[in-house]
Amino acid sequence: MTRPVTLHEIEVAQKQISAHVLRTPLRASLALSERAGVAVYLKLENHQRTGSFKLRGATNAILRLDQGRRSRGLITASTGNHGRAVAYAAKALGARAMICMSTLVPANKVEAIRHLGAEIHTAGRSQDDAMLEAEHLVRQKGMYFVPPFDDAAVIAGQGTLGLEIASDLPKTAVVLVPLSGGGLASGVAAAIKGRRSSARIVGVSMERGAAMAASLAAGVPTNVQEVETLADSLGGGIGLDNRLTFQMCRDLLDDVILLGEEEIAAGIHHAARIEGETVEGAGAVGIAALLARKVKADGPLVVVVSGGNIDPVAHRAIVDGYQSGEAR
Ligand SMILES: *Cc1c(COP(=O)(O)O)cnc(C)c1O
Repeated sequence: MTRPVTLHEIEVAQKQISAHVLRTPLRASLALSERAGVAVYLKLENHQRTGSFKLRGATNAILRLDQGRRSRGLITASTGNHGRAVAYAAKALGARAMICMSTLVPANKVEAIRHLGAEIHTAGRSQDDAMLEAEHLVRQKGMYFVPPFDDAAVIAGQGTLGLEIASDLPKTAVVLVPLSGGGLASGVAAAIKGRRSSARIVGVSMERGAAMAASLAAGVPTNVQEVETLADSLGGGIGLDNRLTFQMCRDLLDDVILLGEEEIAAGIHHAARIEGETVEGAGAVGIAALLARKVKADGPLVVVVSGGNIDPVAHRAIVDGYQSGEAR
């Protein structure tokens, strides 16, 4: 088994990436504190450059490469927050980045990534095809594939937001972390438990298609069928050959909470209407878990609001259309 990422590695990552990422705000939420009966704070990574925490891990992974490796260019196959992060980090660090995507990816998503300075390489008609193309280019051109979660440098980078929480709120008792591949949860748990071993870290996912939750329940990395969800950034598998995040989530997470689509919509709605924050589905699951009263806490609680990249039309529909659970 691979060695888990340590607090020390996360502290080193923090020094490395601090010039390139924002230290995001930790803000008290009166409404959620009232609801939960304990002080609730929001860690606002929707304010991070590129709109999500993924910039932390991507920046750290690229900084860890030697000059020769970096100069052959970086590649990935994500059109979502990881792709944005790799594009932005590469440009900031003076490296070339290529994002592989299928020909079916909508034009606005393609443009958003091109705008961040990456080259776009379209191939095939599915995400799997784009991934195969990226692997081909890695073999052919020696480009470096920046992994989205199952990588020590990426996990250490994501963990830096946990260090910020631990220093802003040393008495943190519970942290709610959105959970997909588990890079974020592994890094945040290692950072916070490294500083305060009594803190509880709780992963939050959607009810259907949550690969890490299914894997933890089964005791081994497990595939699940992907289904459409408002928390689209939480889709995708953890890899049957998972090296790090399965083991770290198994050992460091105290609990996993699963949410239905209506509950996630309520989280997005609350974030916009009450907190004044534009939050995507994946970023709203911690708020949603509190609103659904699925969380037990006996001390200060932090909700990791992981990202804000949501289609404006979809966002407006949820903010305008959603009636609160009690009123329906
Ligand atoms: C990627 C992502 C997550 C999940 O992170 P993992 O490391 O894959 O668990 C959560 N929220 C947002 C906004 C993301 O982009």
